[in-house]
Formats: sequence, C-alpha cells, structure tokens
Amino acid sequence: KELSSAEIRQMFLDFFASKDHLVVPAKSLIPENDPSLLWINSGVATLKKYFDGSVVPPKPRLTNAQKAIRTNDIENVGKTARHHTLFEMMGNFSIGDYFKEEVIPWAWELLTSPEWYGLDKEKLYVTVYPKDQESRKIWEEKTDLPDGHIYEVEDNFWDIGEGPSGPDSEIFYDRGEAFQDIPSDDPEMYPGGENERYLEIWNIVFSQFNHLPGLTDNSEYPELPHKNIDTGMGLERLVSVFQNGRTNFDTDLFLPIIRATEPLTDGKVYDTTQDTEDNVSFKVIADHIRAVAFAITDGAKPSNEGRGYVIRRLLRRAVLHGQKLGIKENFLAKLVPAMIGTLDSFYPELKEKEGLIESIMTAEEKRFNKTLKAGLSMFDDFVKEAKAKGSTEISGQDAFKLSDTYGFPVELTAEQAEEVGMTVDMDGFKQALQEQKDRARAARGDQHAMGVQNAALTDLKVPSTYVGWSETSVDGAKIV
Ligand code: ATP
Ligand code: MG
Ligand code: MG
Ligand code: MG
Repeated sequence: KELSSAEIRQMFLDFFASKDHLVVPAKSLIPENDPSLLWINSGVATLKKYFDGSVVPPKPRLTNAQKAIRTNDIENVGKTARHHTLFEMMGNFSIGDYFKEEVIPWAWELLTSPEWYGLDKEKLYVTVYPKDQESRKIWEEKTDLPDGHIYEVEDNFWDIGEGPSGPDSEIFYDRGEAFQDIPSDDPEMYPGGENERYLEIWNIVFSQFNHLPGLTDNSEYPELPHKNIDTGMGLERLVSVFQNGRTNFDTDLFLPIIRATEPLTDGKVYDTTQDTEDNVSFKVIADHIRAVAFAITDGAKPSNEGRGYVIRRLLRRAVLHGQKLGIKENFLAKLVPAMIGTLDSFYPELKEKEGLIESIMTAEEKRFNKTLKAGLSMFDDFVKEAKAKGSTEISGQDAFKLSDTYGFPVELTAEQAEEVGMTVDMDGFKQALQEQKDRARAARGDQHAMGVQNAALTDLKVPSTYVGWSETSVDGAKIV
C-alpha cells in the first residue's frame, strides 16, 4: 500500500477508535507534574496519572499519537536507519480493562488486514518473554503469524525497578535481504543479529505484575489486581516500510527537509541509494530541526541546563553538520517551513509558533557561529598537541576550555574527537566543571551572607546543574 505519514497515523487512531478507544490528543513534550522526567519519551509517559491510579481516566481504553524526545538516542541519529531524537509514538492503552487475549489479535488485525495496514504476514516477526508462554500461545493460536516467526528473548521484561511491570512482545518487520548487509550498532536487533534487516516497529507491554520493594526475581512478583496494556509503535519506522525508504529519513516526513537543505550546501547531495558520510549530516540536521522546533513550540528554549541544554546541544550539533556540508550562512531557520509542511496537519501549533521557532534558532545559531571557527581551530590544536605527546586523549581541562570559551557541548567535543580516532577525558572534564562551580560558589559567598531574601535572584543568575559556558567571550555578558 502507498500511504502518506498522515494517513498512517490516522489509520492507527481510527483502528483503535473502532475498538472503542478514546482518542487522546498529543500532549506537550514537557512533562506535567513529573520532575523525574526531562522530556515526554513515550506515549504512556503522558498517561502515567491514569496508570498509577492517581487520576481516573475518562475511559479505560485510550489511544494516542504522541510526540516524544529521547536524548539517549542522539548519537544514533543518522547512523542507524531508525532512531530520532524526536519521533512520534502511536499507542493503545488499557487501564485495567482488556489484556493479552484482546491486544494481540488486534495488533495483528491492524498490521495485516487489507482493510487496515495490510502488511505482508510473512515479513512480520514477534518476540516474547520465555516465561510468558501465555502470550506465545495467543500469538500462535489467535493470529496467523507464520510458523517459526516467534522468538523467545530473555530481555523482554519491562521493569522500571518498582511498581507495575511485565513481559512484552516486540514486533519486527523484515526489510529484506538487501538490509542484511547494513550494519547496526544495536546488538539487540532480533531475530537477525546485528544488521538493519529486522526493524522493530511496535512494542506491546503486558503489565501484569507488581514489582514490590525488595524483590529481585521477577517470578516472585505478585500479579496486579488490575492488569494494563501499554503499547508504542514508531510512526517514522512504519512510514519507512510503507514508502519503501532505506531509512526513516527516506520518507515524506524528512525528505522535504533534506531537499530544502541541499541547495544551501556547496553542492552536496543526499543519496537515497546508499549510506554516505554526507547523508549522516543531512539526517542529523533534519532530525534536530524537528526536535528543536517541537521543543520550542512547547515552551522550552536554549540554556545551559536541563531541557535548554538539550536544545542547545542539538542546535550546535546541527550547525556543525551544516559546516561539514559546506553551508556558509545561517541556515536553520530556512528549513523550518519545509519541516512544518511535513507535520502541520496533525500539529497546527507548529505553524502558530513558526516565527518564534525561527527567531530562537537564528539567535542561537548566530551566537554559536561567533565562536565556532575559533573553537574548531582550538580543537585542532588540542588534537595536534595530544598526538605530539603520543596520546589519543583530549584532556578534561581542554574539553572544558572548549566548552567554557567557545560553547562546545562536551558531548560534541567527544564526537568530534571520535571522528579523528581520539577520546575525551570525561572525568577530567567533570572535575574541571566542578572546580568552576566551586569557584562560582566561593565568589557568591558574600551574597549568601546577606541572607536569604536574595535567594530567588541568586537562583536566577546561577544555572544550577550546568555552568559549562559562561559565554563571557561571546557577548560580554553571562547568560542566565
Ligand atoms: P530500539 O530497540 O529500536 O531502540 P526501543 O525498544 O528502545 O527501540 P521502545 O521503547 O520499545 O523502543 O519504544 C516503542 C517504539 O517506539 C519502538 O518499537 C519504535 O518503533 C519506536 N522508537 C523507539 N525509539 C525510537 C527512536 N529513537 N526513534 C524513532 N522511533 C523510536
Ligand atoms: Mg531504544
Ligand atoms: Mg528494542
Ligand atoms: Mg522496544
């Protein structure tokens, strides 16, 4: 079937609406009343209040398509075919309502029925937790999953250390032999081993146990009185299947952004037929533009800590990749209209905030560009110095200097280093950072002595978790 990303998203929601689910609109990326989480990172994260029983859901069956950010995948972007920092997770949820007997046949129906996605059954594979023979049996008896397409995988147990937990099934799509030779960084690619052939599209969690404090063996967890279902399917991955893209990026969600990037480069082209180094840069830029645009839309902005630090890191990373493609001008904002065009039917808020997105991006880009050249040349010097000493490590002090003086997020320095076969002394960096914090604290001593009435002001001026860039060299003023 030829389906657009908008149609694929809508079909998921329509399917579960037809199974009596309430369609819940996408929520902000910034978690509400949840200090444990920096970003909404899954569909279920926005529904936590229903699952933990603190709020009664409007209906026990819910479905959504939820924007999510995963910072743990930043360095996968562009390298694997399937990871983004911002992606959409489509899910269906049962809060004490249906369980395995319903959800497995429904998942199968949605994926394979010609009325719905109509995917080829032969290409679908499923994993189950070895002790969860109940799910295995349902996959075998209540679906027509071909023989030999079930794998038992020891890791398939979802457990965050306490509370609801349970086995899960991951559903994979076989992209075909052509993908067998494309390496993947992920050792957990099932069932084909480490390559991009088997693409995980959907994860279904059967939340049936209660991990009580003190228990370590999950076979001892008691059953929950009310069992839940929580699922997540990656929209971009499914779109790559329908649109036959080599990667998630070769789809209507990303190609328009990539095509808008090409003319800004010094003649670089994005190659849809094979992996190239330039492709990585095009993908990183397209990915990061999306993530930052959504984050800004939801009220975050660049800063030196927390969410703001993530935005800053993503934007600076995109700028560095722009350099690699030979882009000479400020370019981030120029890609925003193309990006919004790929999504605005479902996320009209992007269009509403377009001006804000563009101005924040450009301001941040200008700020980084002022020091970028000097920073890169300092980086080269550090590499040379280290090599001259026969070392392959950039010292923590040096990485700190790059961060403090030129605004290079240390993670970026580490990535740059990796490209020339070097590493960064991260512990040394943390130590240098701590020393700077201590100095700042000492310098503030007098303020503390003045009493607590200035506490609010002090907090405003001193970033609490990350003071990496004083940025005094950028514009003469400390950023607060
Ligand atoms: P993977 O093993 O491929 O990293 P995961 O097991 O970490 O995926 P889940 O936590 O199970 O992912 O999330 C549910 C679904 O969301 C996945 O099956 C996948 O389709 C999608 N997904 C997860 N992480 C990403 C990402 N970084 N970018 C795009 N889609 C993702
Ligand atoms: Mg993952
Ligand atoms: Mg996985
Ligand atoms: Mg998974």
